[in-house]
Amino acid sequence: MGALALFLTPWRRLVPIFLFTLLGATAVQADQGRATAFERAHAEHLGVVRFCVDPDWQPFEWVDGEGRHRGIGADLLALVARRAGLTLVLQPTKDWDDSLAAAADGRCRLLSFLNRTPDRESWLLFTEPVFSDPNVVITREEHAAVTDLHALAGQTMALPRGTSIEEKVRRDYPEIAIVLTATEDEAMQMVSERRADMTLRSLIVAAYTIKKQGLFNLKIAGRLPDYTNQLRIAVSGGDHVLRDILDRGVATLTEEDRDGIVNRYVSIRVEQSSEIGFMLRIGAAALGALLVAGVVIWRMSRLNRELARLSRTDALTGLVNRKAIDARLETEVARALRQKRKLAVVMMDIDHFKAVNDDFGHPAGDRVLTGFGRLIAASVRRADLAGRMGGEEFVVICPDTGVDEAVGAAERIRKHMEGMEFGLGRPVTVSAGVAVLRRGESAQALLARADVALYGAKHAGRNRTKADPV
Ligand code: GH3
Ligand code: MG
Ligand code: MG
Repeated sequence: MGALALFLTPWRRLVPIFLFTLLGATAVQADQGRATAFERAHAEHLGVVRFCVDPDWQPFEWVDGEGRHRGIGADLLALVARRAGLTLVLQPTKDWDDSLAAAADGRCRLLSFLNRTPDRESWLLFTEPVFSDPNVVITREEHAAVTDLHALAGQTMALPRGTSIEEKVRRDYPEIAIVLTATEDEAMQMVSERRADMTLRSLIVAAYTIKKQGLFNLKIAGRLPDYTNQLRIAVSGGDHVLRDILDRGVATLTEEDRDGIVNRYVSIRVEQSSEIGFMLRIGAAALGALLVAGVVIWRMSRLNRELARLSRTDALTGLVNRKAIDARLETEVARALRQKRKLAVVMMDIDHFKAVNDDFGHPAGDRVLTGFGRLIAASVRRADLAGRMGGEEFVVICPDTGVDEAVGAAERIRKHMEGMEFGLGRPVTVSAGVAVLRRGESAQALLARADVALYGAKHAGRNRTKADPV
């Protein structure tokens, strides 16, 4: 409506508004980053500020094997702290409950990434939102796009027990039949297995889970504007000044900052929510409900296609990932057994790759991985499928291929790799293991034998190809 009103206003009346907005915005901008002398003194007095996190809430935040805070919330907190001039250090805790306890008993002064609730507000101070994450309706692929839950009376929605979402849906949409589950993952599983029609979940977590668990028959069918998680940083001990210092950092966060960080973890392009809202409002007023539905469905289907593609793709090399390899191998094995055709698998692993990382740094290691990915992709036949199993391990599925041909293909790739240096000044080599499908064998058994052959090649001195006996 705001945009429509502007559109209808004579331009002269807009000039002062425009100037005011411009000046106002500039003044706020200049003020945002800068702390007052009092705040600077307070930050100095605090010294290192301890913070607590949810150690197991991927992809929002978690603590990795080396005790580092990782995830979307982690990167946002680090950025806010840097811009606000604060030095933070992670206070390790057992779990989220322990983190809450630690914030209450003074072991830490900050909680990194959480929703504001009336209960929490009674003892914590919250910053402005650092991140907002819409809750989306997830259905199976065949379900129509969802624009209004009221229209789905009698359909079932799986939801984890005792969450604020459950309470809200019961209140707002009494016509939806709720099925309770123990966990969020179980709710997604139920939809995937046709035991419920839909679930409602954070867009970020949904994208992450669909990808991780390979629930490729699910899609995002729509979003509910009033169901958005606003994640914030919380301060304990009533320290208003610390909260204000943090808010200065939060105010500097831009959409690019947020998008960049999200893409690091879920590699999904979240459609600009404000744009959808804008389209919805203009559309309703001017173009009619039909067009709106069209736009929403088009955007959703684009988002879902992108999601489906990303869930099968390895972000670093662009090759297919482990899930997609497993799925394809199952199909190829079934086909080869049914049609009595040959099927070979080549497993390749970069030699002493740890040393590449150690000697030249992780980014150089990543360059080697991408380069090798390109080399494999360019070397295989059209009917073959090359993918990254994880780490520095790659696989090629070769339909209608016998052991000699497969060894030949592996050797070609291996020799080519020997001649590449990736700017390191020394060659990087690979070892390969080949296995050919036996009658009645499973996909997993075939992979395992290729792995055994690969291990044999490593054992025999690396930079060579070994085949498992046919
Ligand atoms: P081997 O010849 O026996 O295979 O020795 P290796 O050093 O290659 O094998 P190891 O399994 O000891 O080390 C693999 C290393 O790969 C360790 C891990 O840090 C690194 N790695 C895994 N994924 C990535 C990645 O995405 N990027 C980079 N740069 N390194 C990775
Ligand atoms: Mg290796
Ligand atoms: Mg390895």
